[in-house]
Amino acid sequence: MTLTTAQLATAQVILDRCDALATHSSSQTGIERVYLSPEHRAVNELAAEWMREAGLAPWQDAAGNLCGRLEGSSPGLPALLLGSHLDTVPGAGRYDGILGVLAAIAVVSRVPAGELPFALEIVAFGDEEGTRFGATLLGSRALAGTWRPEWTGLVDKDGISLGDAATAFGLDPDRLGDAARDPASLVGYLEAHIEQGPLLEDAGRALGVVTSIAAARRLLVTLTGEARHCATPWILRHDALLGASEAILAIERIARENGSPATVGHISVQPDAVNVIPGTAEFSLDLRDESAEGRDLTWLAILAEIERIAADRGLGVAVAEAHTAPAVQCAAELREAIRAGIRWTGDADPLELHSIAGHDAMAIAAVTEVGMLFVRCRGGISHHADESVLLEDVALAVDALQAAVLARAARA
Ligand SMILES: [Zn+2]
Repeated sequence: MTLTTAQLATAQVILDRCDALATHSSSQTGIERVYLSPEHRAVNELAAEWMREAGLAPWQDAAGNLCGRLEGSSPGLPALLLGSHLDTVPGAGRYDGILGVLAAIAVVSRVPAGELPFALEIVAFGDEEGTRFGATLLGSRALAGTWRPEWTGLVDKDGISLGDAATAFGLDPDRLGDAARDPASLVGYLEAHIEQGPLLEDAGRALGVVTSIAAARRLLVTLTGEARHCATPWILRHDALLGASEAILAIERIARENGSPATVGHISVQPDAVNVIPGTAEFSLDLRDESAEGRDLTWLAILAEIERIAADRGLGVAVAEAHTAPAVQCAAELREAIRAGIRWTGDADPLELHSIAGHDAMAIAAVTEVGMLFVRCRGGISHHADESVLLEDVALAVDALQAAVLARAARA
């Protein structure tokens, strides 16, 4: 399909808006924007402005998600949600999550009010990445009705509780769960997102249809030995960091054998001194798999190996679970709508992809059916300043998302 000047202009507006949002960062050296921060407030205000330009009356829900609604053929109809997230990891790129929100605004601005057999709602989630409070998908889980009141007690690295951050943001910490939507008020949820993998690029495709999202678990493993002077003979040492090192290499080996992506992205030791044998070592484990069963089998194999290593070295083992999510299947009907959307852009046989990365759609699946459209990103690079998308791909993504909405409407 040859793209028109108007299509490319829409895509250029989206890329310019991505650049504008990228200026709202808590870090001088890269993009970082976390839940309930001043930067979160600033991007909500900016995106609200763009929703108003699209003819919507935006509002912020009880959990700080920014929403906008276009009524369907009669007021008050159940809504098809279109969205993604505006928060970022530290050192983030400009497009992860953000592209999906801006594509949704572009789609809604093209659809006349009163036209569709359902309402269209844009949702810009305030927390998907979960980097501030250690629990992910807080914005989407609030909307999905799976918010847990005890989360207000979670604290960030500066000791600020989620409850206090919510108050400072202007929300009522006791009512964050009020963002929950009634399943009967929803038709489904469609999310456009960069792929975060090189498969589309390798296949020479701009867009892909997501089949399922990986099951995930996040654990914190603490090995406890003895902090001793570095003069201690080898035979008397119980070095927690050496145990952790061996455990991390075992995680790589077992995860590769089982085909379950696993990442240790955090490690810390105590007392953290150059001339003291580490008495404790704590590391994170992010484990994923196409199925919850596969993920859990891999974890059991890893845990058995960690316990063996710890026993050999005279270390204690403690494991805390920070997050668990089942695998999510995209709904057949919405997969078909996304497929129809991609076909409309000229790709007759859209590529199907399994998502190893987690997305808001995982949380939203608890309240309504979900479908996802993946957009090629350069080199599959994401969660990095080098995140990059093509202008043409963005134009195609908006067209495909719009066509997917119309395909879903045709079936309603
Ligand atoms: Zn994302």
